[in-house]
Amino acid sequence: MSEPAAPTPRTSTKRVLLAAPRGYCAGVDRAVITVEKALELYGAPVYVRKEIVHNKHVVTTLQKRGAIFVDETDEVPEGATVIFSAHGVAPVVHEEARARSLKTIDATCPLVTKVHREAVRFADDDFDILLIGHEGHEEVVGTAGEAPEHITIVDGPDDVVNVEVRDPDKVVWLSQTTLSVDETMETVRRLREKFPRLQDPPSDDICYATQNRQVAVKQMAADCDLMIVVGSRNSSNSVRLVEVALDHGASAGHLVDYADEIEDSWFEGVFTVGVTSGASVPEVLVRDVLADLAERGYADVDTVVAAEESLLFALPHELRRDLKARSGAEPEQLRHDPAAAVDAESLH
Ligand code: SF4
Repeated sequence: MSEPAAPTPRTSTKRVLLAAPRGYCAGVDRAVITVEKALELYGAPVYVRKEIVHNKHVVTTLQKRGAIFVDETDEVPEGATVIFSAHGVAPVVHEEARARSLKTIDATCPLVTKVHREAVRFADDDFDILLIGHEGHEEVVGTAGEAPEHITIVDGPDDVVNVEVRDPDKVVWLSQTTLSVDETMETVRRLREKFPRLQDPPSDDICYATQNRQVAVKQMAADCDLMIVVGSRNSSNSVRLVEVALDHGASAGHLVDYADEIEDSWFEGVFTVGVTSGASVPEVLVRDVLADLAERGYADVDTVVAAEESLLFALPHELRRDLKARSGAEPEQLRHDPAAAVDAESLH
């Protein structure tokens, strides 16, 4: 693989433009390691409420190691250990777990927890909160559950027409962390037309990882005859990457979980193939796609670097406590560079 290079105009030789950053974000890395460490520490089975992250390969791999994925806490035997996924849960889920004497480990991404805390604070100040996000997505359900009386979900620009508030002078918008930045700004623009005194969130709710992956795709898209995004269909940020690619000039775009889903028919007249992956996708799946493309003659790979990422989160405190009790030392926290780990609490 060659060194990073700026994209060049469409060519008549076969090549791949590989987005950077791509794949695992800090929240996903932490959540997956949480399940792995919990399996090591407590032994199988360990229960996980919902998919720990929205990726088929990750979920299947953890299942083979003894994780049992459930939809709700009432499927977990009384007294067992349950891990909450990276997408976060509503307070009622914590209450249900307490009522069943479950031992809980909360792998909610700290950047999702940040949005929960914003929701609680604005609800305490009696704001109407317009939560931009996809109705029914686990993260949105969890955030809305913090203050259901105050939160209205706004599912994209076309939903703005349906939004009503109690007091147009006291309205704030928040958002799901994995949305399209452009579409969200369009939703906000329409909301502000309707509610001119609409307040912005204190900081970006769309997380750094979502934004960086979209920026990288925007830089490449116009040069790509085909964009392949590795990710699962229920992964919001992965689906957004295909949309962003098509919106910014890619001639075609497809989402694949695995390399064997790539179809011959996609390659007619294609010289430049863009490749990226969603924030819940392990790099091994991207390598498989690159190997498939190399066999098809697309062996030259240029990396398009949009940003450098170094953020890492410490493991959930419940797990750190138990790991420390066993070993007598602070656990090695993360896969990449433990020295750079940020304690989640420091972000709140
Ligand atoms: Fe956290 Fe963003 Fe990753 Fe979601 S995509 S887990 S909010 S860092």
